[in-house]
Amino acid sequence: MESISFLFSQVSLLPSIYYPLTLLVGLLVGSFLNVVIFRIPKMMEQEFRSECCDFLTINDEKIKQSKDKKITLSTPNSTCPSCQTPIKPWHNIPVISYLFLRGKCANCKTHISVRYPIVEAATGLLSLLTIYLLGFNSAGLVALVLLWSLICLTMIDIDTQLLPDSITLPLLWLGLIANYFGLYTSLEDALLGAIFGYLSLWSVFWLFKIITGKEGMGYGDFKLLAALGAWMGWQFLPLIILLSSLVGAVIGIAGIIILGRNKNIPIPFGPYLAIAGWIAFIWGERIIDFYFQFIGLTA
Ligand SMILES: [Zn+2]
Repeated sequence: MESISFLFSQVSLLPSIYYPLTLLVGLLVGSFLNVVIFRIPKMMEQEFRSECCDFLTINDEKIKQSKDKKITLSTPNSTCPSCQTPIKPWHNIPVISYLFLRGKCANCKTHISVRYPIVEAATGLLSLLTIYLLGFNSAGLVALVLLWSLICLTMIDIDTQLLPDSITLPLLWLGLIANYFGLYTSLEDALLGAIFGYLSLWSVFWLFKIITGKEGMGYGDFKLLAALGAWMGWQFLPLIILLSSLVGAVIGIAGIIILGRNKNIPIPFGPYLAIAGWIAFIWGERIIDFYFQFIGLTA
């Protein structure tokens, strides 16, 4: 560990190098996140279908096809969803390719969704903000993994109403491991954060279900809050829940005003939790200090 910190302390002398580098890496990761966001639900569906058919001993045509064409994060190569033309490497440059192609497929001119360059630009800029606020050190660099995972979870939940275990569970472990080294909080607080993060939403879920007979959220939400608790410690859980209701209210009202959103469309809770978790991770201590000053209890 010491040699690593020594290396970082040397590198941290050169902000003129690591800021542009962070932005560049962030943009490239954003481009990869677009692939992850698109493929993980497809991989889950393929696996689920295959397991169901195995269990029920059904011979499904789609399964035979999917066994030949198994989707992973690296295969098959990305193609245009409309004309299936493989995407050339120079059409994969984050943001720039989109602007250069004016948002259309180079081959069939089908419109490419603007969310791809938005995810790339957001990942790049938020990565830069993270390193700016936390520093180019182990705390800042490990926090990038949290940021990138939360971006993936937000987008996948918006698309599919799912928070994949393949992201939430490793994120929980990584939070515990990071805090084994005392990166953001003590291991004890992190462990309690994971436990109470899971149990708090789990009990709200069952209470809500017993009273109303409806399911307001899913198990993925409990795992995500457990992961956030593991990164920040149990002290941040009330703030995260409070902020996620605020974020939910703001986005919900904005959605109704701008899009005239139908109130019956299910809105996933995961994105609010992810956004609130990120705000709490970056500004949580300042928000809590401000609150205590505000109510006249200087901590
Ligand atoms: Zn095309």
